[in-house]
Amino acid sequence: MILEAELRQQLADVCRVLFRLHLVDYMGHPSARLPGTDRVLIKPRHSLHIRAQDEIRPEHMALIDLDGAHIGGDHPPPGERFIHTEIYRARPDVQAVVHTHQPMTTVMSIAESPILPVLHVEGELVEQPLPMWPHAMLVTNPELGAELAATLGTHRAVLLQGHGVATVAATPAEAALHAIHLERLAEANWRVRAIGREPRAIPPEELRQRAATGVGWQVRWAYYRQLTGCED
Ligand SMILES: [Zn+2]
Repeated sequence: MILEAELRQQLADVCRVLFRLHLVDYMGHPSARLPGTDRVLIKPRHSLHIRAQDEIRPEHMALIDLDGAHIGGDHPPPGERFIHTEIYRARPDVQAVVHTHQPMTTVMSIAESPILPVLHVEGELVEQPLPMWPHAMLVTNPELGAELAATLGTHRAVLLQGHGVATVAATPAEAALHAIHLERLAEANWRVRAIGREPRAIPPEELRQRAATGVGWQVRWAYYRQLTGCED
């Protein structure tokens, strides 16, 4: 079982990686469920003390319960913590959630332009079309969070139209990789359409063949940690 200290470090790394890749700025937040509990570690709300996400440290994380109550840590949780709490409530399999306002994916949701599986590594994430919550409201109460979680269903990502995305996984690193891959897919789809063509969706059998020889998420995450200057 992953230790709390490891989860805190991984959350801090996720903040740095997503910030350095310009998928988050001062807004956006990752979280992790403490294994076997109804408590959640989450990046705190931005403030005069919590600013650039490459400076977020493991000890900065806020601790909340599934009602969104702040039960630990010096800094308050984000207003949109209900994205996280209601997904954890609805999906016992989910151990980590990442919410971003990543630009290209958000543009595609505004345009209602489908993000097709056009890249060989990243494509499997969108082999099934991603669901979209057709609202730009802030998710600042449990009712809106539950509605978003229902839209997510059993998928690994949900688009929040005109707002951003939420991705889910077994670890914060994997949820962050989903966000990174989704942004690369959104950009590739956009670029192909920008030159006047409809992108070729990679067929399932080609995605299967690629997946069977992949290196695994740990290797990809190690690359992004190194790229963005995370400490070993
Ligand atoms: Zn948001």
